[in-house]
Amino acid sequence: MSDCIIVGGGIIGMLTARELQAEGADVLLLEKGLLGGESSWAGGGILSPLYPWRYGDAVNALAKYSQQVYSSIAEQLFAESGIDPEYIQSGLMVLDQDENDLANTWAGQWDMQLDVLLSASDINPYEPELNSVVNRALWLPNIAQMRNPRLVKALAGSLEQRNINCVEHCEIQQLIEVNGVIQGVKTADDVYKADRVIVAGGAWSANIIGSHTRQPEIAPVKGQMILFKARQGLLRTMVLSGGRYLIPRRDGRILAGSTLEHTGFEKQTTDDALHSLKQSAIELVPALAEFPIEHHWAGLRPGTQQGIPYICQHPEIKGLYINSGHYRNGVILGAASAKLMSDLLTGKQPELDLTPYQFEQQH
Ligand SMILES: Cc1cc2nc3c(=O)[nH]c(=O)nc-3n(C[C@H](O)[C@H](O)[C@H](O)COP(=O)(O)OP(=O)(O)OC[C@H]3O[C@@H](n4cnc5c(N)ncnc54)[C@H](O)[C@@H]3O)c2cc1C
Repeated sequence: MSDCIIVGGGIIGMLTARELQAEGADVLLLEKGLLGGESSWAGGGILSPLYPWRYGDAVNALAKYSQQVYSSIAEQLFAESGIDPEYIQSGLMVLDQDENDLANTWAGQWDMQLDVLLSASDINPYEPELNSVVNRALWLPNIAQMRNPRLVKALAGSLEQRNINCVEHCEIQQLIEVNGVIQGVKTADDVYKADRVIVAGGAWSANIIGSHTRQPEIAPVKGQMILFKARQGLLRTMVLSGGRYLIPRRDGRILAGSTLEHTGFEKQTTDDALHSLKQSAIELVPALAEFPIEHHWAGLRPGTQQGIPYICQHPEIKGLYINSGHYRNGVILGAASAKLMSDLLTGKQPELDLTPYQFEQQH
């Protein structure tokens, strides 16, 4: 019997396992597929909410905490796993024109550097390949990124190195609960016992909890992405415009994302999305038209109404916890979210106020 079972081995489950083990807990992590094989693999790895000024304090507080710790987490993961998650402070350039006031207020409140670039010649030194019609931008030099497929591999390697027990291809079919108290979880063939269970099942979290009790309001939101095999140095910063973004990786590849689709649990890629993402990317950086698209994929974000995750105890089942619903921001919110969940379980004074992440706040 473990101290605690975590259901779901995405970035949230893995970071939570790591935090709890560091506090001395004996953790068992159960994953229905491969560790990090779902949304956490598919994401862009921008270490900021897109347009952070559109979010309230609940999301920004988590983002700020994570931003302060991710470069050191990335170093630890590299050292523990031998896999470099490619933490790069590449900065984020936002081209949308009409949000300067909101953005400036946000930057003051959260102590983030924000510069307003007012002409094409201001922008050119940062991004010479941007479409020449772009003549205004908000520049956030401190925003960083990580490379998701490497991040999840590095995390899995770190868990292994720390001897955290993880079982892949282990689908939980049911929670075991007696008189409102959690006892463990069940697969088709096995029973795993623990008096604390954390559901970190991403888009599937409500299904894992089941309909016999109160379910979190978390639903899948599909996101498609394409990858250009571009040349190194073509793009230096992450660029965001009209909800679409480009992310340059260290080896020159450029991700272009993403769609927002409410199509249930299907993960098909579509030609429409491919064309639309390609067109948006080329509008931003015309030179991308010369480079091949190497890959096109989709992932299922754990969508919540306002993008505020559940980091809390279940209101009806004692010993059941939820760390899920990070929607578009699971990577950036993940470090803070894992720390808070660990504080909650170990009885430590939480680093942030947990009130906004309670079950009741979302209903
Ligand atoms: C296209 C796209 C771009 C994104 N870009 C960014 C970005 O730039 N920055 C950012 O911060 N966020 C981004 N996100 C969001 C981010 O990827 C997610 O919020 C995050 O990955 C959620 O992590 P998770 O661990 O909750 O979910 P997941 O990674 O989906 O993990 C949940 C895990 O639970 C497992 N599971 C489900 N049911 C069961 C069961 N019954 N038994 C056992 N295991 C189960 C699944 O197999 C899965 O591995 C993006 C997402 C997408 C799709």
